[in-house]
Amino acid sequence: MTNDLLGRHRAVLPDWLALYYEEPLEITHGEGRHVWDAQGNRYLDFFGGILTTMTAHALPEVTKAVSEQAGRIIHSSTLYLNRPMVELAERIAQLSGIPDARVFFTTSGTEANDTALLLATAYRRSNTILAMRNSYHGRSFSAVGITGNSGWSPTSLSPLQTLYVHGGVRTRGPFASLSDDAYIAACVDDLKDLLGHTRPPAALIAEPVQGVGGFTAPPDGLYAAFREVLHERGILWIADEVQTGWGRTGEHFWGWQAHGRNGPPDIMTFAKGIGNGMSIGGVVARSEIMNCLDSNSISTFGGTQITMAAGLANLNYLLEHDLQGNARRVGGLLIERLRAVAAHVPAVREVRGRGLMIGIEITKPGTDEADPQTAAAVLEAAREGGLLIGKGGGHNTSSLRVAPPLSLNVAEAEEGAAILENALRSIP
Ligand code: PMP
Repeated sequence: MTNDLLGRHRAVLPDWLALYYEEPLEITHGEGRHVWDAQGNRYLDFFGGILTTMTAHALPEVTKAVSEQAGRIIHSSTLYLNRPMVELAERIAQLSGIPDARVFFTTSGTEANDTALLLATAYRRSNTILAMRNSYHGRSFSAVGITGNSGWSPTSLSPLQTLYVHGGVRTRGPFASLSDDAYIAACVDDLKDLLGHTRPPAALIAEPVQGVGGFTAPPDGLYAAFREVLHERGILWIADEVQTGWGRTGEHFWGWQAHGRNGPPDIMTFAKGIGNGMSIGGVVARSEIMNCLDSNSISTFGGTQITMAAGLANLNYLLEHDLQGNARRVGGLLIERLRAVAAHVPAVREVRGRGLMIGIEITKPGTDEADPQTAAAVLEAAREGGLLIGKGGGHNTSSLRVAPPLSLNVAEAEEGAAILENALRSIP
């Protein structure tokens, strides 16, 4: 029974582990874009795509690769030559757009960002980091120290000196009402001003589209404009692609490409869906940055054979089936449909997004005031209707997040939109 499981969960796991829903859900299996709970209820999964499942639940190609590898060998990922790790690294290096790229695998996005910070601070001999307001970069000691979203940053005792930069959230803030060009210019001025008052930072880390922050994106080109300022000063640009990578944004394979006018980032991190549920994270950097560490390092599980086999099978499926193109096409239809619904629901202030990464901002009607209670009510109502979505946002969790597996088809997009429409219309 789920209730019994909830009691046991609460008795033994930390209070700060966030659980969705008044009656939390136990997901027991999945297939394609659907999952089932312990009571046998079926849900269309419009959130698992960003968490774990980039392509599809129980994708046969990945299941086969994982079980074959499990039957062969799972050993330390480093210390011995690891063929699947070399193969996936070659593929990612080539796809990354970063020249002379080296890849290091981790087991999570947190650890990937931690490693990026290790590299940037060592390379630059500086522990000052620029991060974006409202950002989320993980849960480790160093990652919470660069997480601007205060709801997810539980300690101020960071080993890093972090300065927060304007720009990542267009929805609110002092520059929100400006035109795109004026907004970028104002954020660049603000960054220059900040740099005038500080020790030389190691890097700027940014999510091209803020994920936990509620799927908010700055105007295209903001980070290209930042890069010019950073480059002149030798400051590195780290793109956190944990949510935006692998074609999810439709137009681009990587989120940073919307800001690529002045070249690729110096460092890029990835995680989540690439293993389709197997724990893969990683860092890509130019070799002079990756190789700046002056002692050896190892990782027992980062890049282990079984996760790499899953990653290779999943990446092949993604590319062979052009799921980036699918995200662009089906995501385009979905966002149009949701915008049409939103026009009749006063609590929806904005439907925004790219590809299959769509945010719905809920506010008190006609105002900018966040309304987390209503957002939570819509989340519950969607579940009642058989649809799982996520929530997020910087100013309380008043954004709804839609991020299905990238293989979503048009019929499923229509079905999910209809359920969401009912949920939104059920708001008193
Ligand atoms: N970076 C971003 C942008 C994320 O969204 C997340 C996870 N929500 C992380 C890093 C951390 O990843 P993980 O949970 O795998 O540690």
